[in-house]
Amino acid sequence: MALSLAPSFRLTGTFPQPIRYPMMAKAKHWIEPHPQGIYVRPADIWIDPSVPKKQAVVTHGHADHARGGHGDVWATPETLAIMGLRYGTEAGTPLGYGEGFERGGVNFSLHSAGHVLGSAQVLMEYQGERVVVTGDFKRRPDPTCAPFEPVPCDIFITEATFGLPVFRHPPIAGEIDKIFARLEAEPDHCLLVGAYALGKAQRVIAELRRAGWDKPIYLHGAMVRMCELYEELGVSLGELRLVMDTDKEDMRGQIIICPPSALTDKWSRRLPNPITAMASGWMRVRGRARQRGVEIPLVISDHADWDELTGTIRELAPSETWITHGSEDGLLRWCELHQIRARALAMIGREDGDDG
Ligand SMILES: [Zn+2]
Ligand SMILES: [Zn+2]
Repeated sequence: MALSLAPSFRLTGTFPQPIRYPMMAKAKHWIEPHPQGIYVRPADIWIDPSVPKKQAVVTHGHADHARGGHGDVWATPETLAIMGLRYGTEAGTPLGYGEGFERGGVNFSLHSAGHVLGSAQVLMEYQGERVVVTGDFKRRPDPTCAPFEPVPCDIFITEATFGLPVFRHPPIAGEIDKIFARLEAEPDHCLLVGAYALGKAQRVIAELRRAGWDKPIYLHGAMVRMCELYEELGVSLGELRLVMDTDKEDMRGQIIICPPSALTDKWSRRLPNPITAMASGWMRVRGRARQRGVEIPLVISDHADWDELTGTIRELAPSETWITHGSEDGLLRWCELHQIRARALAMIGREDGDDG
């Protein structure tokens, strides 16, 4: 589909502006989007606030959603454990999927988002209206976390990291095969995969295992604690070894996982002829791969792609869709074209927590 973002389209379009919808005004009365998070007024609770708040529901452990320093926190046990690892405090009320609580007449419950281990959507019910905040989500199967649960709602508040038709993530098996093919062609090299430390790294490891790679997988030191936590929380990753503890020669023909920032730094000099790869939805954009000096772009994302975003909105058929962050213009225009009431919330600082 050709998506027109031309200004002339805006001027000639006959789509009504969000302000005309009476439902919007009602919802705004109890759910307020602010640049620093979503505020649920009757409960005096924030969702994923970017600054410390007295009461917060946290959808998942990525830094653009989970911050330290809140008072009371509600989150899944996995998210609390991840926050404990990152911020040194695990205090909070753990809620499993489907579990909830009530505050100020608002019933909150958490539902799986399929994004990373412990990631949750937040359902809020108040005076007969149902609002879902996705946090980040995806619909693809992921061996390291529970699948996305579609939750019927009146207002669907969604991310749109990849909210443009150009973003269509290929099946992951083909991306993993690129690693194997290259190692087979150049067995005296090693393959260095850049992957974000929370979620992406463990998913790549688990997919390598699923594809039959049973040799040890080597880790940059920065990945170790999160991988150990995943193991503690029941996600098995097979034998992992630390690069620092391994002789250079022993890493020929092996796969090494590191944070994206380590792909080009001095650290990689300890590796035998590394071939660099990077796992991210942004690898769809050639310029991004080039910019990072990546030889093998792996289009592997923990966010919904264009088809998952639009398919989810069609499936849930909410009366309104609010878009928190990402390419909101693209998804907003799609909603307008499909006569779905939509608005973009100006949420800031939500893009750099997990690198796609
Ligand atoms: Zn995230
Ligand atoms: Zn995010």
